[in-house]
Amino acid sequence: MTGPDQHRQVVVIGGGQAGLAAGYYLRRAGLDFAILDSNRAPGGAWQHYWDSLRLFSPAEYSSLPGRPMPHQAGAPYPDARHVAAYLTAYEDRYQLPVHRPVRVTGVERSPEHLTVRTDSATWHAQAVVFATGSWQRPFVPAVPGRELFTGRQLHTAGYRRAADFTGQRVVVVGAGNSGAQIAADLTAVADIRWVTRRPPHFLPDSVDGRALFELATHQVRAHAAGETHTGVASLGDIVATAPVRAARDSGLLTAHPMFDRLSADGPVWADGSTWDCDTVIWCTGFRPDLAATRPLGLHRTNGRIPIDGTRALEDPRIHLLGYGDWTGPASATLIGVGRTARGTVDQLRTLLA
Ligand code: FAD
Repeated sequence: MTGPDQHRQVVVIGGGQAGLAAGYYLRRAGLDFAILDSNRAPGGAWQHYWDSLRLFSPAEYSSLPGRPMPHQAGAPYPDARHVAAYLTAYEDRYQLPVHRPVRVTGVERSPEHLTVRTDSATWHAQAVVFATGSWQRPFVPAVPGRELFTGRQLHTAGYRRAADFTGQRVVVVGAGNSGAQIAADLTAVADIRWVTRRPPHFLPDSVDGRALFELATHQVRAHAAGETHTGVASLGDIVATAPVRAARDSGLLTAHPMFDRLSADGPVWADGSTWDCDTVIWCTGFRPDLAATRPLGLHRTNGRIPIDGTRALEDPRIHLLGYGDWTGPASATLIGVGRTARGTVDQLRTLLA
């Protein structure tokens, strides 16, 4: 189904937290804009996370610009449903013009304007902000024998609840927060092997996800001052949430080295040892979902579009927002994306003046 062509000064692609933060500042700047989002419901990736997932940081450290996240009754660390509800209310509060479900299939450029092709209408804009996140691009490493394994394989993106694996033998792969949290979640109902390529590194129990945000802030300041920031934490460290702590302290969450390959029955390690299992869960991360940028024909370096802040070096009408530190420090977090979005909109306001 196609409608009449639409014209806006700015089109934002993606209505998750990054797209909404951009919308907040675009509204304040008085620019004419639309947000196109392929999900049926508000909430971006948060509406798809697993049932037991909790934020790393308390509500007051997880807010978008303008509107603090309310507390969740009885839960200092809110769950994903609470965040999705907050994002829904945020859209309403600022009357953000989100159109959904609208899937952008590609963006083209000419010297005069940008053309945003979708599965419905075509949109014309003077600038486009990509805020498509990474949830729709799960990454699984090319481990030999993956196709031989006769059990079930799924990625973090497909995990919903531990009860689905009751009584199973499950291998969880990945040294990050998703791997630790899912492995901890499963310890109550399944026999697990948590497998990591490098030894997992836990943040001290006394700190939570706020430490990662503070670390990112220090890195920005140090970078601006021409210094190298050295600290005890790194952005990939595991936040010892209460369930992760409990599983680790009870000895059920012990990391094993990465296996060499998969056989029909399960992992095989370099020394020949094996562990037959029912399921392998790949908690091996995501990649930025930038498929819609392809028709732009922008030059790439090491697979990435070169940017300054969030602005594409080759075309100042194109911005990439919320994909992680390379598009702004802590820009993939609720609290961090606001700062980056403000910078994006400041630049667009100057460009479109
Ligand atoms: P998304 O939330 O993925 O939103 C992108 C939107 O763009 C989606 O609605 C999608 O439908 C839409 N879209 C994509 N492609 C198109 C297209 N072609 N056309 C139209 N629309 C499109 N962050 C925190 O701050 N605190 C935490 O505690 C925390 N915990 C996390 C735990 C896990 C397990 C994970 C995976 C992430 C966590 N994060 C946390 C990070 C945070 O959830 C994500 O970084 C965040 O959701 C990214 O927001 P986004 O708006 O960039 O992308």
